[in-house]
Amino acid sequence: MDTHMHKVHFNHKSETEGTSVTVSPRILVVEDEPALVDTLEYSLTRQGYDVSVATDGLKALEIARQVLPDLVVLDVMLPNLDGFEVCRILRQETNAPIIMLTARAEEVDKVVGLEVGADDYLTKPFSMRELMARVKALLRRVRLVREEMTTATNENPVPEFP
Ligand code: CA
Repeated sequence: MDTHMHKVHFNHKSETEGTSVTVSPRILVVEDEPALVDTLEYSLTRQGYDVSVATDGLKALEIARQVLPDLVVLDVMLPNLDGFEVCRILRQETNAPIIMLTARAEEVDKVVGLEVGADDYLTKPFSMRELMARVKALLRRVRLVREEMTTATNENPVPEFP
């Protein structure tokens, strides 16, 4: 048992019961470099996330539709469909934060990435520590928004006196 493991909990509404259950945030990693996939999967799993992996752009869309990730880590250079296209399509289907990974540091990539709806950016090579910090920050932001929405819709009516 690793005592340093930091488990992050997320509330997902169960569709069948309508109750809130605590599960690990789901993260979809889209990357075609096996060594980096291994590192990302290992590091994210260690942080307590539920990790799915896609190794090309088309599989990324397919898996995203199946697992409905809470966050996507998306490489730009991918077989079949590049990360920008994947990001553009995913943005129409989900509000989950998207962190793009790029090997090129050119400013133009950052601009394109933000235009297609990416929430954050990391230029390779990056440290896992930095990625973990960004993942955590984005998930926290999403959770706060969800909690606000829950509070707004579930607010108890003011009791009336007879
Ligand atoms: Ca790649």
